[in-house]
Amino acid sequence: MVAQAILTLNAGSSSIKFAVFGCDGDQLEFTTGGKIEGIGTAPHLVARDASGIVLAEHRWEAGTGLQHEDFLGRLFEFAEQHLDGAELLGVGHRVVHGGAHFFAPARVTPSLLGALEALIPLAPLHQPHNLAAIKAVASVRPGLSQTACFDTAFHHQMPAVASRFAIPPALSSEGVRRYGFHGISYEYIARRIAALDPALAKGKVIVAHLGNGASLCALQAGQSIDTTMSFTTLDGLVMGTRSGGIDPGALLYLLQHKHMSADQISQLLYEQSGLLGVSGVSSDMRTLLESCDPRAADAVDLFVYRLAREAGALLSSLGGLDGLVFTAGIGENSAEVRRRTCERLAWLGITLDEDANARHADVISTPSSRISVRVIPTDEERMIARHTQETLTRPA
Ligand code: AMP
Repeated sequence: MVAQAILTLNAGSSSIKFAVFGCDGDQLEFTTGGKIEGIGTAPHLVARDASGIVLAEHRWEAGTGLQHEDFLGRLFEFAEQHLDGAELLGVGHRVVHGGAHFFAPARVTPSLLGALEALIPLAPLHQPHNLAAIKAVASVRPGLSQTACFDTAFHHQMPAVASRFAIPPALSSEGVRRYGFHGISYEYIARRIAALDPALAKGKVIVAHLGNGASLCALQAGQSIDTTMSFTTLDGLVMGTRSGGIDPGALLYLLQHKHMSADQISQLLYEQSGLLGVSGVSSDMRTLLESCDPRAADAVDLFVYRLAREAGALLSSLGGLDGLVFTAGIGENSAEVRRRTCERLAWLGITLDEDANARHADVISTPSSRISVRVIPTDEERMIARHTQETLTRPA
């Protein structure tokens, strides 16, 4: 039994993940965690203990209209009931956008909250839910320390040339620039690479975070030097419902000639595009891979094509490549997407070990492959807990 604990909350567009970690010195031990998925449609909660035993499972009927706010209080209560007598030291949150000013985990204060609210237009799918989670905790435990961990932070040191759009400097200095996201996941993966393969960690690695949201990060000696998402989480790869990179001229066409409103275009690009938009079948890669519908196959082809194409761009930013790492839902679980991506990148000297790939082994390239290809499960929750613990021990 541990005496102290940290709770993490990761509120996404239609899900909330939570985890409780016991703190023993600077060691973090996962004790309980889970996820509510399908918020807005048919919510489903599953919570497990460290050995994977289900502690709670509940399905709400479709159309109950329950939103994030309705679940946050309950999740917090559930987590508190499973602290096993430990004192809750603080809560760590994933916050998608830290803008130009927040690039290290920060204790939540009213003024920080205000500044983060101003960034909602830059991440409309996530930021409101991230901040709602902070407010929900503050309303039930006003004195409890809360820490915001930013998805943009890991990319803060990207070279200036990688952070700029080719627009007049007045706009760039107002903050219209490339930020990059999925930084909590990339930071965790960079640390895992250092632990698993110290020589590779000193080299040039592309990490493919392929989940509902998807991006690539170019790591040079463990630091992000370029990434595919930019000003918002729309840029770069094809995603579950997001378009990925699209010619800005196409948006002008939609505005000026198709007379779509800004809200309609926003909905189109964030919610009706990507795998869902192309296939008309689903935003879910597993469903598409199992489908016989030719439009599902087209969507998967486009996903892999754009992934390999963007990897090519990052290869050029890095000036070479030593390793490729797959992570997140698709990256960790889809041998098919990994196989097809590596096939497209075979010209680089990647040779896939088909058997290791099918088994989701840690290393899926052959020993003679010029580039080492790995599967590393991400753990954003642990990274958030680590930062929260560090923030708590730092003088305010
Ligand atoms: P995430 O956002 O990281 O939870 O990832 C969600 C994505 O991972 C969805 O598109 C899922 O279909 C996909 N995924 C999960 N398991 C598999 C699998 N076994 N095969 C293909 N895709 C999967």
